[in-house]
Amino acid sequence: MINDFNLNKKAQLLNSNIYNVKSRIFDVCNKIGRDLSKIKILAVTKNIDFEIINLLPEDVDFIGENRVQEFLLKSEKYKFAKNRIHFIGHLQTNKVKYIVDKVSMIQSVDSLKLAFEIDKQSGLIGKRMDILLQLNIGKEDTKFGFFEDEIQEAIYRISSKSNLKIRGLMTIPPKFDKSYYFGEMRRIYIDIKEKNIHNISMDYLSMGMSDDYEVAVYYGSNIIRIGKLLFDHLSEF
Ligand SMILES: *Cc1c(COP(=O)(O)O)cnc(C)c1O
Repeated sequence: MINDFNLNKKAQLLNSNIYNVKSRIFDVCNKIGRDLSKIKILAVTKNIDFEIINLLPEDVDFIGENRVQEFLLKSEKYKFAKNRIHFIGHLQTNKVKYIVDKVSMIQSVDSLKLAFEIDKQSGLIGKRMDILLQLNIGKEDTKFGFFEDEIQEAIYRISSKSNLKIRGLMTIPPKFDKSYYFGEMRRIYIDIKEKNIHNISMDYLSMGMSDDYEVAVYYGSNIIRIGKLLFDHLSEF
């Protein structure tokens, strides 16, 4: 247990960390004429205790976990409404059934097999799941996701599934040349959006983490996923 004084300190620090992230996004928005209110912040809560997660203020739009087991242990204790909870990590098909009732979006759909399982499990509970398709934009062996030349067919095949709704794209870019890769993501995102494909709505481009969220916002991201920058140093209290 963490005592009240320390919880208060942590809450203050969290608020100021979020404020700092927001003001840096605001600066980027000002430079390029984007609307700050259109950019959502997702707090990545992996490895963070539920007591701290529950201190997150209202202006954090979403929270996201990336491991099923950890997520299941913590999710019962979240004070957050389900419509603010996303899953963002690689998901094995045999674990889909454990999370479909607990999240409002799965950002990390990286194969057709996974998409079809989410469709099936969502159907069983009468739900239509929002999903993002994850792109492996740098074609890295170490990362999951569709390659660019697979995405078109994936969208057509997934868009016929009645328990899924594609809401956009997600990526984790290579370490280097981020501007290039974020620019590529923007191009792909806009291309798909302009096709107005039946049954999908390209609302979200989820990219940008603690180290690169300003670049991502510059290139059109509207969900940034921030972990380290929000939660590091909290344990000092
Ligand atoms: C951990 C993680 C993040 C956040 O990374 P930080 O560097 O801690 O901001 C974002 N997205 C995914 C998918 C992650 O696993």
